[in-house]
Amino acid sequence: MAEVQVDTHLRRSSLDLSMSDELSSCGAVLLGPGPLSPRVLHPPPTDSLPSVRTLLEHKALHEGLEDAFFVADLGAVIRQHKKWQRCLPRVEPFYAVKCNTDPEVLRTLLPLCAGFDCASKGEIETMLGMGVSPSNIIYANPCKSPEHIRYARDHGVHLMTFDNADELAKVKAINPQAKMVLRILTDDSKSVCRFGTKFGAHLPATYPLLQTARHLGLDVVGVSFHVGSGCQDPMAFDDAVRRAKKVFEEGARLGYRFSLLDVGGGFPGSEKRHSADDPDIHGKAEGSVTFEAIAAVLGRAIYTHFPDPAVRVIAEPGRYYVAPAFTLATTITSRRAVYHPAVAAGDSLNAANDSTLPQRAVSMDCGSAEVGEGGRADGGKPGGVLIEESGAEGLRQETAQGTLSAGEDKSFMYYVNDGVYGSFNCLLFDHAQAFPKVLSAKARPVRHKESAWVGAWYECSVWGPTCDSMDCISKKTLLPEMMIGDWLYFEEMGAYTLSAASRFNGFELSHVFYTNTEALP
Ligand SMILES: *Cc1c(COP(=O)(O)O)cnc(C)c1O
Repeated sequence: MAEVQVDTHLRRSSLDLSMSDELSSCGAVLLGPGPLSPRVLHPPPTDSLPSVRTLLEHKALHEGLEDAFFVADLGAVIRQHKKWQRCLPRVEPFYAVKCNTDPEVLRTLLPLCAGFDCASKGEIETMLGMGVSPSNIIYANPCKSPEHIRYARDHGVHLMTFDNADELAKVKAINPQAKMVLRILTDDSKSVCRFGTKFGAHLPATYPLLQTARHLGLDVVGVSFHVGSGCQDPMAFDDAVRRAKKVFEEGARLGYRFSLLDVGGGFPGSEKRHSADDPDIHGKAEGSVTFEAIAAVLGRAIYTHFPDPAVRVIAEPGRYYVAPAFTLATTITSRRAVYHPAVAAGDSLNAANDSTLPQRAVSMDCGSAEVGEGGRADGGKPGGVLIEESGAEGLRQETAQGTLSAGEDKSFMYYVNDGVYGSFNCLLFDHAQAFPKVLSAKARPVRHKESAWVGAWYECSVWGPTCDSMDCISKKTLLPEMMIGDWLYFEEMGAYTLSAASRFNGFELSHVFYTNTEALP
């Protein structure tokens, strides 16, 4: 692990943090906006830094922030690493940089990970710039541009993947010294994000590919795969390791002595989203396969099929390391109270083919803005069934009556200041689901564990800030009545969120504040 060269100067200067008066007053240290002026402790003095919850409340309720913001707990990254070491001691993690490129996250991972999985010149540049040795980078993109291969070559990055013959010819012409890793196709049918449609050599193609490599005089050093992201079946890893073993044998027949097995990424990072007994969760994001279950299967498969310790086993975990580390807080910037007479609404909702969305956007599926049979191209009320509340007064009277059962009568559309074009792009690209939780309602903090909120809960929908009607964060979720200026928060928002967020429609990316609740191993 210690092969990663850390820029000690960088680390020392990051200790130079400026105290925030307000935070000191709540027993906390530190923390400014992230990418602009990273000022976090490396390594952290664990017990003096605030919990995520403390920081959320402090920033949202006491400091009077208005923009959406993240709280990143770098300690969550460290905890994931400790778990990795416990469960998969033989497998060296090469963090997949694309998943979250936050500089503090990367800096936290520098001394932890054996290396980094980069897919482009830009990512390679970033990691080299942070002091990572080129030999600790795998250029894990089977289809690379010539310019980027040249850049990698000129900077000493020689380990790279391929899955087709044209790539071999291209690499041979640019960098005959390359150490090639054959990416094979695996059964990704059980994964939420399937990669097999884009990358990976079919098993029948691997032998001819290796022959081509041999012919070109290229050095092939091993095999890689990626079972897909959000893998729901641990046996997919077992199957993939068996396939890799076959390809190792093919290599041996051609005179290669492979020394690298790369088991890719796809390890789940979400902890809470998977637990059905979490009362805060009104649905499940993915299945319930845990990292531990996958690690048990994978560990056994490696032990069985690759008993030779001379074979180095690496992985390219992305989401696993960062998903639990980021919590996003958003303000309710607007809301729309919607009232729908129970009887008439039933029929019309069915006619509009989506009885799951009790608001005006009846037939809208997140991800497509099609208009249902109700015909609301103008965004108006479907068949005049749903009636918007006209005044806040009547509203207050009704909600004061106590719990309203889900789906009845009334709901709210809440509009918040980050959305699908920003941090929630994971809803589109990563098939994620968002589970809003209440940080404050009617200007008072709400702590879920205490069930302190005695008022009614409604079936609500939550929307992003852009003008696009597909900018929907949650079509249906139970929330109390909240006011403009109240806060929602979303846990486990560290994977494929900020790294792919855009500024569409003129909305800025959400800031990151850091804390750290775990000691280095
Ligand atoms: C994206 C990617 C990863 C990381 O995947 P996760 O599901 O985040 O673990 C690893 N390897 C390759 C080649 C990738 O493209």
